[in-house]
Amino acid sequence: MEELIRRAARDIAGASYAVALTGAGISTESGITDFRGPKGVWTLDPEAERRAYLSYQEFSNDPKEWWQNVLAGQQRRGSLGNLEEAMPNAGHYALAELEKIGVLKCTITQNIDSLHEKAGTEHLLEYHGSVAKLRCISCNARFRRDEFDLQKLLEENKLPPRCPKCQGIIKTDGVFFGEPIPSDVAEQSLEEAWKCNLMLICGTSAVVFPFANLPRVARQAAGATIIEVNAEPTPLTEERISDYLIQGKTGEILPMIVEEVKKIKQVG
Ligand code: NAD
Ligand code: ZN
Repeated sequence: MEELIRRAARDIAGASYAVALTGAGISTESGITDFRGPKGVWTLDPEAERRAYLSYQEFSNDPKEWWQNVLAGQQRRGSLGNLEEAMPNAGHYALAELEKIGVLKCTITQNIDSLHEKAGTEHLLEYHGSVAKLRCISCNARFRRDEFDLQKLLEENKLPPRCPKCQGIIKTDGVFFGEPIPSDVAEQSLEEAWKCNLMLICGTSAVVFPFANLPRVARQAAGATIIEVNAEPTPLTEERISDYLIQGKTGEILPMIVEEVKKIKQVG
């Protein structure tokens, strides 16, 4: 394990363009459950996976009714609990520090929990959106939730909210299962995968597509070195898309990697 951590630190410190990919596993140590880990929401309740696909259909069929249900509190509570109260853990801070040192150029996350942002990561692509934001489904403009008086729109029968820029329908920014990835983050993420020569993949089972294509692009098109930090092997490990797996908790391993990178880069 120590040797692998030193190897990862050498690879990361030597890369001219490193990017990180993260998934639900990096946030389990912040108390947010993942979907497919041993205690994941879907591992324990396979029906929940099927139900997750219904939300996008419900929204697409009738955005007005969907918003009315959400605001009236009738909508099922999100299976991940109250994400707004969660705080970043050592894994999120480690990636933010790698960015500050200058070795990590971009973090692309599948998580909707805003914890990378809270930890101070600046160049962040939220591939599946964020619970903290709303998004126009026509022009992709993002808004903070408090930019709309949703309760007033409900009372005045003016739902769904409309985009001030293009009048498009506004939904929550979090991407539903079955919903296309917003074109801006999809394109930017693909560009990062093309550009990088090192990809550090943290806490993802790498089975959700198209996100799981990004390591394949980095490997096959960019020839990048790919490092996985995950509690268990994934298809990327098994198909040898990743060069090596450091098996364990991101909250423990990533800070150790950062300490080694700092020694190599001689930063305090
Ligand atoms: P996943 O649940 O499919 O896989 C998580 C992986 O992380 C598993 O392989 C698990 O063994 C591993 N893991 C769990 N805890 C870990 C730890 N402390 N250290 C290292 N590895 C750990 O998650 P996914 O691949 O991100 O796919 C789930 C989808 O659901 C994503 O698209 C995401 O948008 C969404 N989701 C988001 C959150 C969140 O925002 N925090 C939480 C659950 C699901
Ligand atoms: Zn718009």
